[in-house]
Amino acid sequence: MQVVDDLYVEQMTEDEFVIYSPLRGKSLLVNKSAAQAVRYLKSTPDLRIQDISSPKLVDFIASLKRQGLLDDEVILEPPPPSKTYQPTGVTLFPTFNCNLRCVYCYANSGDIDKTYMDWDIAKASIDFIVKNALQTEASRITVEFLGGGEPTLGWTLLKRAVEYARARTVENDLGLITQIVTNGVLGKKQREWIVANISHVQVSIDGPPNVQNAQRPMIQGRPSSDYVVETIKYFEEQSYNYGIHAVITRETSTQLIQLVDYFSELCPSISRMTFEPLFTCGRCAYSGVEAPDAAEFSREYVVAWKHAAQRGIKLTCSMARLSRLNATFCGASGSNMTVTPYGDLTSCVEVSTRYDKRAPFFMYGHYDQETASFVIDHDRLNKQADRNLYNLPTCHDCAVKWHCGGDCLARAMAENKLFDPASTERCFMTRKMTIRQVYEILKNDDLAEKTDTTILAIPC
Ligand code: SF4
Ligand code: SF4
Repeated sequence: MQVVDDLYVEQMTEDEFVIYSPLRGKSLLVNKSAAQAVRYLKSTPDLRIQDISSPKLVDFIASLKRQGLLDDEVILEPPPPSKTYQPTGVTLFPTFNCNLRCVYCYANSGDIDKTYMDWDIAKASIDFIVKNALQTEASRITVEFLGGGEPTLGWTLLKRAVEYARARTVENDLGLITQIVTNGVLGKKQREWIVANISHVQVSIDGPPNVQNAQRPMIQGRPSSDYVVETIKYFEEQSYNYGIHAVITRETSTQLIQLVDYFSELCPSISRMTFEPLFTCGRCAYSGVEAPDAAEFSREYVVAWKHAAQRGIKLTCSMARLSRLNATFCGASGSNMTVTPYGDLTSCVEVSTRYDKRAPFFMYGHYDQETASFVIDHDRLNKQADRNLYNLPTCHDCAVKWHCGGDCLARAMAENKLFDPASTERCFMTRKMTIRQVYEILKNDDLAEKTDTTILAIPC
């Protein structure tokens, strides 16, 4: 039997099984005997149709073919990442300082290191991506500002970098996308400037005031909710293009529907929101805040995802990405360019200091003051690019591998499982959530459309 590789069987209930072909974008809900037949086909890939004696099996194969779940075409798999490093986008960390003290902050921002980026590092970063864009004939560049700390605390540099990027793109006939990920504690002038100058902002907010103030307090525990809400209300008034991102803790993992409702009321214009489960690191060590229970989060997330869809909102999480097919989880596999306040280059936004034990893998260069340019370790970039699904044997038989891409490199490495992510809790959640979404789409005709998911569900 030709090409049964991209065909997976997952049990959902006692007698309900999902047959799923992610690369064909097709799925089917079947009973136990049909599931067994597919498993048999998978275990005998050399089987020829003329050698099959059971007419029922022949009919079943014909019906799989009719439904597009089986064919004789070789299906193209997503390619491994390119080893050509010419980024046309950069993420700048203007500072490690922060005005909040989030109880789970991975970077312990603002506690010890309050370094700010020097202008020459930001300038060299923008010059580098403009040069790459011209060499690769890209139509635009992207400049993003993110943490380490709160990027808007490096306000002077941030504004100057946007103005400089604008000037360089105008001069070279390139487009410019600018983005900020912020905690939303902004002054009036900052909000106005952002609306006038930044393409898109993502605001981090964890929920209503009791949740936000407990999880994302300001220095000395002062509440942050009012400031963030004010920022969001301003963005709403201005019909500004922004999104929100919430970190889900053990405590809030049972309140996901309420969170969807709260954010829908607060942010009526947004059509997408992101929930990510807390990963225990950084300040969690002494704040005592806990990650959600994996089974509970997986279950509750899918319920909230369906609920959000009914409200016209696309709820997203990096561990349930049905619309995406890729051999990697993110650009940390050798393509991201993130620049820290010290001018270090890292492919992972979460590994931003040289004393992080993962730095020897993720950090691949630094700014050199003498030459005013970046020194880049291409061997290290190549090693990052090699961390992809083609080199992850424990992911080989996973039904959702092309959606997952082998999971977050930084999280897997934190558990010493960079090349064995299949035994982590995140893997468990990814598998549960993603295949459950396929199942729910099969059971609810309109969910694929409402969730903007491209798989073609074929309920039997
Ligand atoms: S490896 Fe993980 S934490 Fe790092 S950039 Fe990728 S998704 Fe983010
Ligand atoms: S990490 Fe887990 S869910 Fe992701 S591809 Fe590997 S086996 Fe699949």
